[in-house]
Amino acid sequence: MPVAIEKYQEIKSFLDQKQVALVAVSKTKPQEDIQELYALGQRDFGENYVQELVDKAAALPQDIHWHFIGHLQSNKVKYIAPFVHLIHGVDSFKLLVEINKQAAKNNRVIPVLLQVHIAKEETKFGMDATELKAAMEDASALDHIVVKGLMGMASFSDDPLVVQPEFAYLNGLYQEHKKNKTHNIDFSVLSMGMSGDYQLAIENGSNLIRIGSLLFGARNYNK
Ligand SMILES: *Cc1c(COP(=O)(O)O)cnc(C)c1O
Repeated sequence: MPVAIEKYQEIKSFLDQKQVALVAVSKTKPQEDIQELYALGQRDFGENYVQELVDKAAALPQDIHWHFIGHLQSNKVKYIAPFVHLIHGVDSFKLLVEINKQAAKNNRVIPVLLQVHIAKEETKFGMDATELKAAMEDASALDHIVVKGLMGMASFSDDPLVVQPEFAYLNGLYQEHKKNKTHNIDFSVLSMGMSGDYQLAIENGSNLIRIGSLLFGARNYNK
């Protein structure tokens, strides 16, 4: 499927009005698709797989902001640490420690979002409110990361009555922790909303959405 240029422009002007940032989720999609949106001014792209991200980052323009939005294994942090712009899915203190270590090796401070489990499904990753609080307290010892906010994925459901309270809950946690700024916790990003639910996410406080299939078409994992 070709890149949905008109859809991109429509979503982009809607988001600009609302002052919401867009990460174009390009996982499994070819570099040419990324180039097409790049030519229209898009600079923030999201990827889920480390090797794919490393390959694309090496081949594509250097001013792209690469967001890692997948589930990150500790032993792979080193490959993306030199260049990653924001890591969205941090769901354990152990991972935070490894990101801090690899950031230090690269003389960087890496911005991260902590992932909160808000969906009904067991399979989605993330911390609960208690784990989040503990991770934020422990994070104060890590000088090579800065916690910029929270990320979450709602239940896979078309029912706003299911999804809306999940977004509202995450926004509540975000607003609460936003008040407690420290030297390396400085909230300004609430990453929630995808192709199917981004409007609802924005109504509930999101200021960064991650859109893939609406822009690039459905993904084929069997290639
Ligand atoms: C794949 C993915 C997206 C994009 O999903 P679409 O429904 O295609 O917009 C957003 N966020 C995360 C974490 C993803 O893994």
